[in-house]
Amino acid sequence: MAGKSVLVDVSKCIGCRGCQVACKQWNELPAEKTKNRGTHQNPPDLSGMTYTVVRFKELSEGGQMKWNFFKDQCRHCVDPPCKMAADDEEPGAVVVDENGCVVYTEKMKRLKEYNLREACPWDIPRWSEGTSQWVKCTFCHDRVANGLAPACVKACPTGTLTFGDRDEILTAARRRLRELKATHPDAQLLDAEDVRWIYLLHEAEDEFEMGLLRQVPSMKFGLKGIFSPMAPVWVTAGLLGMLFKRREDGMKREREKVEAP
Ligand code: SF4
Repeated sequence: MAGKSVLVDVSKCIGCRGCQVACKQWNELPAEKTKNRGTHQNPPDLSGMTYTVVRFKELSEGGQMKWNFFKDQCRHCVDPPCKMAADDEEPGAVVVDENGCVVYTEKMKRLKEYNLREACPWDIPRWSEGTSQWVKCTFCHDRVANGLAPACVKACPTGTLTFGDRDEILTAARRRLRELKATHPDAQLLDAEDVRWIYLLHEAEDEFEMGLLRQVPSMKFGLKGIFSPMAPVWVTAGLLGMLFKRREDGMKREREKVEAP
């Protein structure tokens, strides 16, 4: 099977959300006004303005708090159930391009009354009031068609996301799984044969927040946060912010290249 894939090695994710920001930048999506819900996950869910979200799960291990992170988005199914469902109502509304990117077209506007979320095993598509159509991650098909990696892959500073030819990514995924199994016996690949975004979990599925939003009690914000065990994370996040700024500038140059006549 030809085309592209991405390996999402969640064992390397630090929850910095650089991927979320890069997705917003490339797709020119606005920020969302959100409220403090007692969790550091923000925004709370995918939406018509948010095509990818890093879901936080707070756990206790040996008396210590820890987080597991899960970058949720369209898996770009090899045989997309959403395409099969949409084809019944509006043929051509969902297309799969030569790289395997599952793309929602303008014809999605005609499916307003249709609940496409129900067709997706991962509850991904969302209705966008802004553009009046169903939306989701596009696999940055415009970047990929121009030989570039998806914006989130480019932005990730930890190597959580690896983009490439599908066969090579599958090989890399299985190799990394063997490595992880030595220290994490519950490590697993999720649906590797059926999707192009291949998730490698280092722990059991219920150790991650993977689906519909569930409320997670968490630390309160404010001064307490300075003394929290996660304070080093925020310092790291600040440093990463500077890194993202540099990558943002690079992304602007790439947009000029993609849009060049
Ligand atoms: Fe469609 Fe859901 Fe598969 Fe994405 S993950 S291609 S939205 S069925």
